[in-house]
Amino acid sequence: MGDRLSLYQPGLSSPVSHRMFEPRQCREPLLEWYQRSRRELPWRGTSDPWHILLSEVMLQQTRVVAVVPYYLRFIERFPTPQALADSPEQELLALWSGLGYYARARNLRRAAQSIVQLGAFPESFEQIKELAGVGDYTAAAVASIAFGLPHAVLDGNVVRVLSRLTAECGDARSSSVRAKLKQIADEMLDLDRPGDFNQALMELGATICLPRQPQCLLCPLQDHCAGRAQGTQGELPVKPNKREPIKLALELLLVEKDGRVLMRQRGEHEPQLAGFWELPESRLIPGARRMARLGEFRHSITRNDYSVEVWQAELMRAPKGFRWITLEQLLELPLATTARKALSLAGRPVADGVG
Ligand code: SF4
Repeated sequence: MGDRLSLYQPGLSSPVSHRMFEPRQCREPLLEWYQRSRRELPWRGTSDPWHILLSEVMLQQTRVVAVVPYYLRFIERFPTPQALADSPEQELLALWSGLGYYARARNLRRAAQSIVQLGAFPESFEQIKELAGVGDYTAAAVASIAFGLPHAVLDGNVVRVLSRLTAECGDARSSSVRAKLKQIADEMLDLDRPGDFNQALMELGATICLPRQPQCLLCPLQDHCAGRAQGTQGELPVKPNKREPIKLALELLLVEKDGRVLMRQRGEHEPQLAGFWELPESRLIPGARRMARLGEFRHSITRNDYSVEVWQAELMRAPKGFRWITLEQLLELPLATTARKALSLAGRPVADGVG
C-alpha cells in the first residue's frame, strides 16, 4: 500500500487515473440519496441547538441504537440548558448510567451552565467550541445542523468515506492525512445545505460505506469513488500499528443481607466514574466468604479488555467505605456499568441501560 499514490490531489482539476473524484460532483447524488434513504432518528428534523448538542455528545463513541432511548429520556427531563443546569449531578449521572464515558455528562452540565450564563445558545462555530467538552467535530455538527453555517465535519465515518473516495493511502490517523481529508470535506460541503450534507456523509459511512464490507453497489457515489475503481476500498482507510487491547481480570462480589446489597460510591477524586456506585472487588474485602460463582462477562474501556467474574459472597458487617443499598435504591442510583452488568447477571433489578 505504501508506494501507491492517491488518485485525488487537491488543486488538480484533471483525473490522475481513468476514474475521477471531483468533490463538488458528489453533492447532488449524496443529498438525493440522503433524502430518500436516511434513517428516521429522533434528533433529525429538529433545529434546536440544545437537542442537537445533546445528540452529538451522546453519539460520540456510542452506537446510534444505544443512544436513542437515552436521548428521548434526556430531552424529556432536560428540554432546555436551564433544566440541566438546575439539576443535581446525581440525577444526571443516574440518567446517563450505562452510556459510558461519563466525562461527557459532566461536560454537558458545564456547557448548560455556560449557555444559561450567556443568556442564549451561542450561534457561531468559535463560540460553540468554547463550551465544555465541545471540539472541532461537535462544534461543526451543531453549527451546520442548527444554524446552517458552512463547517464540514470530520468524524470516523467521514474519514473512512473520504479515504475510499480519494484512495488515500497515507496513515489515516496522521495529522497530515486528516488535514488533507478536512480540506476535501470543506470542498465537498454543500454551502446551501451544510447540515444535511454533513449528516448525509456520516450516514453514508454508517449504513453503506461500512468498515468491513462497503456496500458499493448501493452507494450513490460509486461512480465517483477512486478506491472502488482501484479495488482497494476494503483496505482503506490505512491505520497501521493498531495497538493490541490489554487483557485484565476482575472479580466482583455480590454480598447481600436482609434484601440489601453491599456497595461503594466512588469518591470525588477517583480518576474515573467519580460519584458512581459499584460492587466490591474481592481484593478489597478479603474477609468475605465466597459462596457461588454467578457467571462472567466482558467489559471494555478504551484499550482495557476486562474479563469480570461475579461471585455471591457472605460478610457480616459492611467494611469502612461500603454501604448496604436497598433494591429500590438500586433503581435510582448512578451505577458503574460493571455493577449494572453484574446485578443483571444475578437477576437483580437495575434501571434501563445499554451497559
Ligand atoms: S463506492 Fe464503496 S468504497 Fe466508495 S464510497 Fe461508496 S461504499 Fe464507500
